[in-house]
Amino acid sequence: MTDSTASDPAAEVLARCLALYEDMSFSRVRRWKEAHPGGLAIGALPIYVPRPLLEAMGCLPVSIFGGGDQLDVIRGDSYFQSYICRIPRSTLELAMGGQLDVLDGMLFPSICDVIRNLGGIWNMLFPERFTAYVDLPQNFDRDIGGRFYTGELRRIAAGLVGRGAKPPSDEELRAAIRRENSRRRVLSELSALRRREPWRLRASEAYLAARAGSVLEAQEHEAWLRELLAALERREARAYDNVRVVVRGAFCEQPPLGLIRTLEAAGCDIVDDDFQLGLHFIEGDIEEDSSIDPWTALSNAYLDRGVATSSRYIGEATKGDALIESVRAAAAEGVIFAAASFCDPALLDQPMLEAALDRQGIPHTSLKYAENSGQFQVIREQAGAFSDAVKLWGSAA
Ligand code: SF4
Repeated sequence: MTDSTASDPAAEVLARCLALYEDMSFSRVRRWKEAHPGGLAIGALPIYVPRPLLEAMGCLPVSIFGGGDQLDVIRGDSYFQSYICRIPRSTLELAMGGQLDVLDGMLFPSICDVIRNLGGIWNMLFPERFTAYVDLPQNFDRDIGGRFYTGELRRIAAGLVGRGAKPPSDEELRAAIRRENSRRRVLSELSALRRREPWRLRASEAYLAARAGSVLEAQEHEAWLRELLAALERREARAYDNVRVVVRGAFCEQPPLGLIRTLEAAGCDIVDDDFQLGLHFIEGDIEEDSSIDPWTALSNAYLDRGVATSSRYIGEATKGDALIESVRAAAAEGVIFAAASFCDPALLDQPMLEAALDRQGIPHTSLKYAENSGQFQVIREQAGAFSDAVKLWGSAA
């Protein structure tokens, strides 16, 4: 037992999560494949893919978040113009460097033009690999969007079967849905704890814990999360005189861990965020009742209970209402917009979200980052000034 483990019961499980976060060679995925002969590891770009479908087919869903701040991008740059975000370049860099060879396929969800284009380039560079574009519906009528989406799910499943995955029985799909629901309930417990006592579980730690789910099956991830939850109850922690903030805009290319820690060091308790949104994309449980066709259950969950985020059409709803609801639910005092540079979905929404906050008198500030940003002094000063202003005057002015 290390000194830090002796003094902090959560240190050991958090260290494991950090090791996964830093492992750009995906050794955990390699070990999973050794332990599951014939199993396929299927990568997925942000934000959301229906993970239970993959697990029900004996596949390991692997969330790909680019190269973070540990990778020099050289070849990846030559495929994209300079004025787009970094995640597609670093993802290609990883692929061309061989780190993603462990993957048997790749899913590209329809969240923005960049991911769509990355899928096309991927197909040209790696024509022998399985790839699928996950065309998520923007029509939420069950007879239209629902029928379309279940068709998409079956099309992707058929493609995977063609590559050796096992066809999922309804019972296996239901079992995978149950495991996913169970994992997400623990994630919700951790979120509730963070809202109640943000000093007991820091946002940077919650981030690492959720991020571990990128390369773990739902059941194993849940076990890690339960371990963490139990350790946190024993953790000695004291409250800080911080400002409670919601962070929005970081749903795809992830901010460097150092940036999240910088916000904390600047006096912000991040009580709600969209960092690992894929795991929280469905609000509440996916239906797991045996009377419901599990394919339809997956589709209904997406149609009826998908979160409001910039890449998801919200119909007649008003932009900003969902954010204000989140601020109220988390008893937050302000909002920090943190978006990847050149992220169209986040940055196009931001003015509408800011206007909605202004109408409610909720303070906010904004910053941009790249996954490899390394200098945080300016961000620390900006976030520090924001938290001081909110603390002193209840506004960012
Ligand atoms: S960071 Fe934004 S623009 Fe870039 S791929 Fe993700 S959603 Fe698209």
